[in-house]
Amino acid sequence: MVVGSRSPARRLVLKMSGEALASSSSEEAIDAAVVERLAGDIAAACEELPLELAIMVGGGNIWRGTTGEGQGIDRATSDTMGMLGTVINALALQDAVERRGQPTRVLSAIHMAEVAEPYIRRRAIRHLEKGRVVIFAAGMGNPYFTTDTSAALRAAEIEAQMLLKGTHSGVDGVYSADPKLDASAQRFDEVAFMDLVSRDLRVMDLTAITFCRDNQLPILVFDLMGPGMLRRALAGEEIGTLIR
Ligand code: UDP
Repeated sequence: MVVGSRSPARRLVLKMSGEALASSSSEEAIDAAVVERLAGDIAAACEELPLELAIMVGGGNIWRGTTGEGQGIDRATSDTMGMLGTVINALALQDAVERRGQPTRVLSAIHMAEVAEPYIRRRAIRHLEKGRVVIFAAGMGNPYFTTDTSAALRAAEIEAQMLLKGTHSGVDGVYSADPKLDASAQRFDEVAFMDLVSRDLRVMDLTAITFCRDNQLPILVFDLMGPGMLRRALAGEEIGTLIR
């Protein structure tokens, strides 16, 4: 398989923001209907496609480290609160995916033996080989990082062919300018890491981008919330923007 091609990659890491699990129609941090829909897409894709899928869930719908810092909370403590938020999301996603008949394992970077397995690289790979969807919780377990960077790290560790960054803001790829502010903004089908950085095009945090560049890990940016888009991204269809 050509690394960076759009043909169905066998092993993928999907980064899903915490906010993708929330919605404007629910006051709760997690909208069960949204989780159900995403879980349905994930389970169906795993059944139909030759796929080994790992998912890194964010926690921004519950807590972000920088929010607490602004309120005087110690940054490392606030980041830990954010990582614990991702565990809540991971359990919600696990529950919904498993109800569709797709086996999953939550692997947490912060040990909590009663609710999730610890993250062990070789165990993650074994689960994938056995057809289980792996849900990474608690990011990489270190404060001062994001789940974007954690997703990139885990993708490299488990030798995934690609990192899928699903957006939830309605923007379906990388544009020459912010499409919500500039009507002439153009979407790129493909963009090089160097151009992304030099043009300051923000799709993920810079640490994640440079990590992927240094480790030759392509990123597909696509609209996670668009009908059928997750299935198409997982199938390797030419949607969104490929960064490589
Ligand atoms: N976080 C962290 N280390 C990690 C991953 C996450 O400290 O390895 C914390 C950080 O405070 C972050 C929060 O967890 O703000 C939630 O993650 P993120 O903001 O990446 O979630 P998303 O925006 O994707 O929902």
